[in-house]
Amino acid sequence: LSQLFRPLDLLGMVYRTIRQGLIDMEAMYRLIDTQAEIADAPDAPMLHVEAGEVRFDHVHFGYDPEREILHGVSFTVPAGKTLAIVGPSGAGKSTIARLLFRFYDIQGGRISIDGQDIAAVTQQSLRSTIGIVPQDMVLFNDTVGYNIGYGREGATQEEIEAAARAASIHDFIMGLPQGYDTRVGERGLKLSGGEKQRVAIARTLLKDPPVLVLDEATSALDSRTETEIQDVLRTISRRRTTLVVAHRLSTVVDADEIIVMEKGRIVERGRHADLVRADGLYAAMWTRQATEREDMPVEPGIEDMF
Ligand code: ATP
Repeated sequence: LSQLFRPLDLLGMVYRTIRQGLIDMEAMYRLIDTQAEIADAPDAPMLHVEAGEVRFDHVHFGYDPEREILHGVSFTVPAGKTLAIVGPSGAGKSTIARLLFRFYDIQGGRISIDGQDIAAVTQQSLRSTIGIVPQDMVLFNDTVGYNIGYGREGATQEEIEAAARAASIHDFIMGLPQGYDTRVGERGLKLSGGEKQRVAIARTLLKDPPVLVLDEATSALDSRTETEIQDVLRTISRRRTTLVVAHRLSTVVDADEIIVMEKGRIVERGRHADLVRADGLYAAMWTRQATEREDMPVEPGIEDMF
């Protein structure tokens, strides 16, 4: 019976959070997605980010302590570099992204940014350090300008427009009936997947975080939109430490390191060319994807890897 009431509890929690005026995309995400209580340690210091090195050290984690999902995952993303995480569905890719944001506490090991344990610092300082471009962003029922400006409190209209330009969505917005004042979301204009993603990118650009988490869309966008978004993502991940749950070939080919996950373990790691040469799981996935799309040659340019 308690299973039945849990969603209601959660709904109540979400409602109360909204009422308190604390609504925040990340807080919402956490409330909806987790039931565990994450608390700041008493007198927790703020996270101080200089370079932005991200490190997972023998991380063990299960959503349910009885069922471990990550079995000792270790990697380092040097400041400003890009790590691509690939692997079959259910391997634990998104879980890694959630743990970096501390949606959940881990059961073993350590996650740190610039040497500071993320579980020891304030959640507020951790979350202001990391920007997330999710696969499918939920927009607020408000204007498109508000949805972008949400990235940084007090952002001016000029800053909002500059971010929109950088995310290649300014011209689209100017073509809307009321420009930046056009209402979007469930009760307003519905945006396409690509448009929503660009709004998310513009918002992240305003936030200007040193660490970026990208969850690439699995669903295919049309190829022009895809190329445009890839270009913008490449620009924003330059000079920022970036973790990307990768489904696109261009992302994995360009990544400084690729980790291949399978059933909660890193089974291969390296750069694209090394992994193709190693002839293991990555190479097999690569070949399979290529043969599934016979019209595509086995070389950079194939989309929808993994
Ligand atoms: P995909 O490519 O399909 O998104 P993934 O590699 O990102 O998969 P995760 O979402 O990290 O995989 O999931 C890893 C495992 O954790 C899966 O077995 C999944 O069932 C489980 N899992 C994911 N989210 C939760 C949750 N909120 N509660 C319980 N188990 C979960």
